[in-house]
Amino acid sequence: MIPSILPTYNRAPLSFVSGSGSWLTTDDGRRFLDLGAGIAVNSLGHAHPELVAALTAQAGQLWHTSNLYHIPAQQKLADQLVDLTFADTVFFTNSGTESCELAVKMARKHFYDKGQLERVEIITFAGSFHGRSSAGIAAAGAEKMIKGFGPLLPGFVHVPFAEHDALHAAISDKIAAVMIEPIQGEGGIRQVPEHCLKGLRDFCDSHGILLIFDEVQCGVGRSGKLFAHEWAGIEPDIMMVAKGIGGGFPIGAVLATEDAASGMTAGTHGSTYGGNPLGCAVGSAVLEHVAAPKFLADVNRKAGLMRQGLEGLIGQFPDVFDGVTGAGLMLGLKCKANNIDVVNAGYAAEGFDCARGGECGAAVASAEHSR
Ligand SMILES: *Cc1c(COP(=O)(O)O)cnc(C)c1O
Repeated sequence: MIPSILPTYNRAPLSFVSGSGSWLTTDDGRRFLDLGAGIAVNSLGHAHPELVAALTAQAGQLWHTSNLYHIPAQQKLADQLVDLTFADTVFFTNSGTESCELAVKMARKHFYDKGQLERVEIITFAGSFHGRSSAGIAAAGAEKMIKGFGPLLPGFVHVPFAEHDALHAAISDKIAAVMIEPIQGEGGIRQVPEHCLKGLRDFCDSHGILLIFDEVQCGVGRSGKLFAHEWAGIEPDIMMVAKGIGGGFPIGAVLATEDAASGMTAGTHGSTYGGNPLGCAVGSAVLEHVAAPKFLADVNRKAGLMRQGLEGLIGQFPDVFDGVTGAGLMLGLKCKANNIDVVNAGYAAEGFDCARGGECGAAVASAEHSR
């Protein structure tokens, strides 16, 4: 019999009922150090007092009005994002998938309005992840996501990761944009080298096409910069954001330059919940923290410690671990052994003495993540 929850996940046998900072507690009272952070969502940990305060203050005032009216909390968050980034304008969504949908629509509309009606295709990369909608799975193009779900949204040209020749061969008069995660998340915490991001910017400029960064996972401080592309010193035309910006409240955003967004006039796009007061109140509180130089300096300091610790593990267990990937606190530990075994050992490691005060707990890695 089908379970009452549609069985699309292979869940770990753990039920968390409360959290505090980096720690999670199960229904039977076990404490776990949370290294998954809800898939790069809990950017300030669990039950951060200022996020709780921001959400409850807004909840006591006004939950929802729709985008038929001005939303002060949304205006504030949009202004913060415009101040802090390359962007001139922001549209709020509820998820990374929805941000992907708008990024695709925006790029196409940009060229449509310029009279370049044939420019509808978007170059994407093997191993990428852009969400689970028909556009998102078509963009990623991975067999295991698309099989059985056709016909998919057409217009994506897939090239192998880190193969410059293939990228150059993919260009044509039909290409509107390149879409890429500066650090691939689901694809295994694979960082695009800085010189490649710079090269991509030049590539897009020289062909007159748009550069779209998917920073749904690597954005909002996770990499040690507010947005991961800042490490390369270049800027996209459009950027997808979600996950960390809500710190656990479902909110996403598409950031864009004025030029890239020029086609998105009144009536061309919308969302009932996107930019709702609750999500924006939390998003503002998250950004206030994460964008502070001291906070990001701390991420980089902790990232150095974490990386050192992980490198030590590799030295200690060379047949199990292979290498550390990623940037900042978006780190992957590449396994030689079956990574699912490593994750399960983390889940089972009760009684493991944590460095901090002898707490009992185990690292929670995300099995979905560590393929
Ligand atoms: C998670 C993710 C998405 C999809 O976000 P949802 O909020 O799950 O819809 C898109 N892109 C990247 C890079 C992601 O990691």
